[in-house]
Amino acid sequence: MLTNDQLDRFDRENFFHPSTHLAQHARGESPSRIVKTAKGVFIEDRDGKKLLDGFGGLYCVNVGYGRESIIEAIADQAKELAYYHAYAGHGTEASINLAKMVMDRAPDHMSKVYFGLSGSDANETNIKLVWYYNNILGRPEKKKIISRRRGYHGSGLMTGSLTGLPGFQKKFDLPLDRILHTEAPYYFRRDDLSMSEADFVSHCVDELEVMIAREGADTIAAFIGEPVLGTGGIVPPPAGYWEAISAVLEKHDIMLIADEVVTGFGRLGTMFGSEHYGLKPDLITIAKGLTSAYAPLSGSIVSEKMWKVLEQGTDENGPIGHGWTYSAHPIGAAAGIANLKLIDELNLVQNAGETGAYLRHTMKEAIGDHPHVGDIRGEGMLMAVEFVKDKADRTFFEASDKMGYKLAAALLSEGVIARAMPEGDILGYAPPLCLTREEADQIVNATHKAVTTVLG
Ligand code: PLP
Repeated sequence: MLTNDQLDRFDRENFFHPSTHLAQHARGESPSRIVKTAKGVFIEDRDGKKLLDGFGGLYCVNVGYGRESIIEAIADQAKELAYYHAYAGHGTEASINLAKMVMDRAPDHMSKVYFGLSGSDANETNIKLVWYYNNILGRPEKKKIISRRRGYHGSGLMTGSLTGLPGFQKKFDLPLDRILHTEAPYYFRRDDLSMSEADFVSHCVDELEVMIAREGADTIAAFIGEPVLGTGGIVPPPAGYWEAISAVLEKHDIMLIADEVVTGFGRLGTMFGSEHYGLKPDLITIAKGLTSAYAPLSGSIVSEKMWKVLEQGTDENGPIGHGWTYSAHPIGAAAGIANLKLIDELNLVQNAGETGAYLRHTMKEAIGDHPHVGDIRGEGMLMAVEFVKDKADRTFFEASDKMGYKLAAALLSEGVIARAMPEGDILGYAPPLCLTREEADQIVNATHKAVTTVLG
């Protein structure tokens, strides 16, 4: 077996890591961690250090680590049939069963699911489908997509363009044409502090209306949004936001893509975020919680309204020119089936709602009054703590203070992983949905200590 030192050297010499400061990593200036095993909500590294994973990997391990039923389903599938493609009507028992399970859980007006591998490729699929749809309907000009500042939809060419975080676009010549960004529903960061929540919703709606009027509704195909902003800061929308935005989209015949890569399969205490906020999307993006990341799999759930036009399109033009070699991969599908069964059997959607509420409540009790804690927010098993320099004036620390990263590092020393979100000093929490109250207490106690250590 290789020693840790050998692995560390091979890593820095050979491995191009995603979302990493490449130069610092190659020079050995940044910490690395080689994860060895995991069980429940805990991961263990090669030094035997056990950490409570308060971010569930990358908010994807919904059922927790080390679940035997999923591991066995993957092994059984690999033995029976490790791969066959899904082109030209081919399927496997696993991919067909999973499609049915997904559609049984999706909102009633949805019709079919296309399977991909990542949240990014599922959103690429969605944009292609939206463009195809409008071409079939004879509206070739209706192609622009409205996303939101601070939205996160992936890091491909199109999806990195939809993402509204500068760090994912800088020096990559993104965003591409046809992509527009409107206001983020981020009440805590409103410019005008005197605005009520209702005024802020009106402001978001006004900005959207002005953009649509400027560009022309006949040029805008779709609006994409996460039910709760994720990587942009974990921000539930203000009350009434989705109702008001949905009404604008309907008025202008603009499709809604609900990016449920994080919120799908229980994260908010409901099976889908669309259900939570009463959304009626034309497309739903799913990934992460679909397999709890035991195998890569994503999906685009298509509404009946869109499906009818896609059928018309293939009658007119032949088979749809879209597909991946690994679409509906049977090993991913087998993992998905076992994962969705476990979510039901363990009542994880309900636990996400109840234990998530307990986590937020205890966090507020523990640090809500701290002078540098500006906001504690969340929904279900998704929570953020946002730090400020001054609470009364709601001023923020300088980016160069790297306060979020310092707090995440201090929390790690207390044995808990939270994510320093990329914009602002925000600790993000998205533990597996099986979190217990005792584990929630551990997260809160460790956060309390870390905040006291770093900020007094
Ligand atoms: N959409 C949302 C809302 C996400 O949070 C993510 C990833 O975090 C993606 C899309 C992209 O998914 P992936 O990293 O699997 O490509």
